[in-house]
Amino acid sequence: MAQKRDYYEVLGVSRNVSAEEIKKSYRKLALQYHPDRNPGDHTAEEKFKEAAEAYAVLSDEDKRARYDQFGHSLGGGGFSGFENFQDAFGGFGDIFGDLFEDLLGGGGGRRGSRGKRGADLEETLELELAEVLTGKAFDLEILRREVCGECLGSGAEKGSKRKVCSDCGGRGEVRVSQGFFTLRRTCPRCHGEGESIEKHCPACRGEGRVRKMRKLQVKIPAGIEHGSRLRVTGEGEAGQSGASRGDLYIHVIVKKSKTFERQGQNIYCERLIPYTVAVLGGEVEVPTLTGKTVLKVAAGTSAGKVLKIKDEGVPLYGMTDRRGDEYVKIDIEVPVKLSKTERELLEKLADERKDGINPKKGFF
Ligand SMILES: [Zn+2]
Ligand SMILES: [Zn+2]
Repeated sequence: MAQKRDYYEVLGVSRNVSAEEIKKSYRKLALQYHPDRNPGDHTAEEKFKEAAEAYAVLSDEDKRARYDQFGHSLGGGGFSGFENFQDAFGGFGDIFGDLFEDLLGGGGGRRGSRGKRGADLEETLELELAEVLTGKAFDLEILRREVCGECLGSGAEKGSKRKVCSDCGGRGEVRVSQGFFTLRRTCPRCHGEGESIEKHCPACRGEGRVRKMRKLQVKIPAGIEHGSRLRVTGEGEAGQSGASRGDLYIHVIVKKSKTFERQGQNIYCERLIPYTVAVLGGEVEVPTLTGKTVLKVAAGTSAGKVLKIKDEGVPLYGMTDRRGDEYVKIDIEVPVKLSKTERELLEKLADERKDGINPKKGFF
């Protein structure tokens, strides 16, 4: 056997680096030289094994200490070769299975940067004007992609693993020559993921995600305006391969009220009052967002006068205790039909006022 290289040298680190540094360096080499990424490349395979062996020793505190003291010359079945290494550490497959799971995202860390973030979703929510008074929770039912419960998002059937894509070597893109140019294209085999699956999970057909109806509760802040767009972070579709979820955008439609017109925090309505009340003053019922209230009308109120009811408007955004006002525009109802008594009384009144309305008693 040829002279073994120093394990630190193999991993390209100095002798006093931290365990974390060793792991980091090893990951880089393992990804670079992994046989799946370098099919048929014998040198890469050797380098890969060399790095794996170095890592197996240097990642273990005891073994690293012994290696630091004795080096490769360690007697009695030391670290003198890959075959021994395999025997000594319970087989290449296990260690590699674990490490590689870790590398490719079994541990979660790396996968996040590899997969595609989940798509944002857009939903519409219709509210009555009265519903903006309080910060209310609304139930929404949305169809969205969720992490597949069968394969937990890996897309692989149980027992089968994700492996580095053989077409692109995990880079997610391939080079295509076109005339003088070499172009990079998204790998058609793995669709840019850099990984492929031996056997697809039957539940999600390898996508790692499945469409599901989900019930959500979304709290809509009090005082929300029609046409607002609310973002609910992380309630969009699940990401691919452990990447983060998209967001949910809620387009708020505040339905037009038959009674009120809204302008910011204030609401406006009209109220027809009997002409007698307009003249003599009195009390009339007026609608509010929550029901009705009694409004005092002063004697001698003319049509077009606007009366204010304090704090019966719409809350300031996000606050339930600071509301705008309600404005009631008074209109006077002129009766079309009069009873006999009403007519007599009114004629008397007109006489009294010298309004000159009675044609029978005209000027001529
Ligand atoms: Zn590929
Ligand atoms: Zn699945």
